[in-house]
Amino acid sequence: MPNRVPLLKGSCFCSSVTYAVYAPPVLSAYCHCTNCQRLNACPCTHTMHFGASDFAWTHSEPHLALLDFYDIPLKPYKRRFRCKQCGVGVASLNSNTHRVSVWGAGLERDGEGKIINWEIARPTAHMFYGTRMLNVNDHLGKWEGYEGKSKRLG
Ligand SMILES: [Zn+2]
Ligand SMILES: [Zn+2]
Repeated sequence: MPNRVPLLKGSCFCSSVTYAVYAPPVLSAYCHCTNCQRLNACPCTHTMHFGASDFAWTHSEPHLALLDFYDIPLKPYKRRFRCKQCGVGVASLNSNTHRVSVWGAGLERDGEGKIINWEIARPTAHMFYGTRMLNVNDHLGKWEGYEGKSKRLG
């Protein structure tokens, strides 16, 4: 997408693999689901969804040469890409919805370690909060599943 200006950029831990997104997220939330917990070894993940056409790999071609992938057995339509060098997951493609997920912790930082364009990336909710490993006392809505499409828990 040479003529489009990226809104957000991100990478794996070692920066071998990089990407850019060219539109605001269609979803940005802290996800407390058991898949995110186990795939990231973290109590919750800041996940963002984008239309697949608004996402592009930006490291050297061929892009897939630097990437490994894993398909979640119970959701084989979700392909999770990780860097071959450092092993960190960078994005996943849902071939049913044609959406790409990226994780907020992988976004580009400024000199103070703060995420660049955080206002664009910022989560709007906590989702799959029923399986949380920690209670979060913030102003965002807490949902059993997706925001606005499931039971509100708080
Ligand atoms: Zn890496
Ligand atoms: Zn999740």
